[in-house]
Amino acid sequence: MIADALAKIEERIEQAARRAGRRREEITLIGVSKIKPAAAIREAYEAGLRHFGENYVQEFQTKRAELGNLPGATFHMIGHLQSNKARVAAELFDVIQTVDSVRLARRLNEAGKRLRVLIEVRLSPEEAKSGASEQELPALIEAVRSMENLELRGLMVMPPWPETPEDSRPYFRRLQELAAAHGLSELSMGMTGDFEVAIEEGATMIRVGTAIFGKRKPPQTGDR
Ligand SMILES: *Cc1c(COP(=O)(O)O)cnc(C)c1O
Repeated sequence: MIADALAKIEERIEQAARRAGRRREEITLIGVSKIKPAAAIREAYEAGLRHFGENYVQEFQTKRAELGNLPGATFHMIGHLQSNKARVAAELFDVIQTVDSVRLARRLNEAGKRLRVLIEVRLSPEEAKSGASEQELPALIEAVRSMENLELRGLMVMPPWPETPEDSRPYFRRLQELAAAHGLSELSMGMTGDFEVAIEEGATMIRVGTAIFGKRKPPQTGDR
């Protein structure tokens, strides 16, 4: 089932890339496996998926232990990260996509492991709870760049829930402009509902959950 879903997504990624005059290799598909069991991650891995996104440190800690060795797999933290969980997150993940404060960046840096990071940008002040504002961004970029264990790769955004995929386009476009202005190459944007628009606007990482793993139950309290 997951293999079929992946094949369909793959086709849609290729079509969107072609429409945008881009190469498929420029786009990394991240399968978002939050709330899904370790067995689902393994099934997707066996179908060829190598990048996984998770939102809750504690939930993933349990699953990571069940997963054992998955050579070549890369795990991305894509959920809001509290500073007090930075150390555990640094151990569990290869990429942290949700750096949104100097304080969190400092904690991650202090964990002593080399990490690739993205800064989460909040482009819709009223609706999003996490992410750095555009005003905060230049100072945060400078701070992260000065940290020896953090390698700043790009920006990530989670727009307000779109009614139609087109609703996300202005946010994706703005993220692309900000990344270009700061010389950052990775753009993590686009989910099940809007990843094709994201590809058209330059996404280099798309984060797709539902279309690969199916619908989710809401998170249990204590997961975070
Ligand atoms: C859950 C989640 C996704 C995936 O959402 P789907 O709509 O299931 O594809 C992507 N990014 C983030 C930050 C998420 O929390």
